[in-house]
This record gives sequence, C-alpha cells and structure tokens, in this order.
Amino acid sequence: MGRQIDMVVVHCSDSGWGNAEVINEWHLERGWSGIGYHLVILNGHPISHGDYDPELDGIVESGRDIEDKGAHCKGFNSRSIGICLIGKETFTENQMKTLTQALLEILQHYGLDPDAIYGHNELDDHKTCPNQEVAEIRDRLWSLMS
Ligand SMILES: [Zn+2]
Repeated sequence: MGRQIDMVVVHCSDSGWGNAEVINEWHLERGWSGIGYHLVILNGHPISHGDYDPELDGIVESGRDIEDKGAHCKGFNSRSIGICLIGKETFTENQMKTLTQALLEILQHYGLDPDAIYGHNELDDHKTCPNQEVAEIRDRLWSLMS
C-alpha cells in the first residue's frame, strides 16, 4: 500500500527559468533533502540567460518520488502531490496543457475529483504561488471529466 494521497498542490518556481535539477540544488541549499516537488513542468528556459528551447517547453520532469512525502506545502505534505510550474507570472500554453494532462492522470489514478486540486495560495494565506487562478484549472478539469 502506498502513501495516502487525496490532494494535489500546484506551485510555481517564481523564477523565469529552471528545471528539476536546478530546483533540487536550490532546495538542498535550504537544507532540505533535495527537491520538495514531485513534478516540475518546464517553460523552455532551463538555465539562466539561456535561449528558449521549444523542445523543453511543456516537458514534465520528475522530482521527488511520488511515494515519498514532499516538501512544498506546510501542513499538507504527507497527503499531497506537489507540482511546480517553472515561471513567475506567465506560463506557456504548453505548460498549461501538460499540467492539465498530468492532473487528469493523477485524479484518475487516485480516484479524486477536481476539488482535490489546490493552489499553494489557497492553503497558505501568505503565498501568492502559483500566481494564477487555480479555480480556472479546476473548472477545466471538471469539464474534461464530465
Ligand atoms: Zn508554492
């Protein structure tokens, strides 16, 4: 029997660039046991000041193993999966497509409905992350699953 999962928390990196490896380094620097998110969705800018690579736009990378408790949302880590979109305030169409698909697969796998999806800001008043309306993401999922 695996970890009991009944929530998915959507985050953003609050950086214009990055990937799972970079976030892993950032989180190690904070003294954590490596990347706190389970999935990372790239925006085509994996490195600082690098060129946009369309082949890396919307690609999903694995972070922490899904079966391991994450480190991304205080109070909710043991029961949730954490997904991080690379970006500050704007996210690409490919990222949003990949996010929708990943959420759909997770909800179906765990037998959850779209109300199991939260933005970090909906669980922590001090956060603006993921800097977009997660209600719209839930609505999209509701229409896809109906
Ligand atoms: Zn967050």
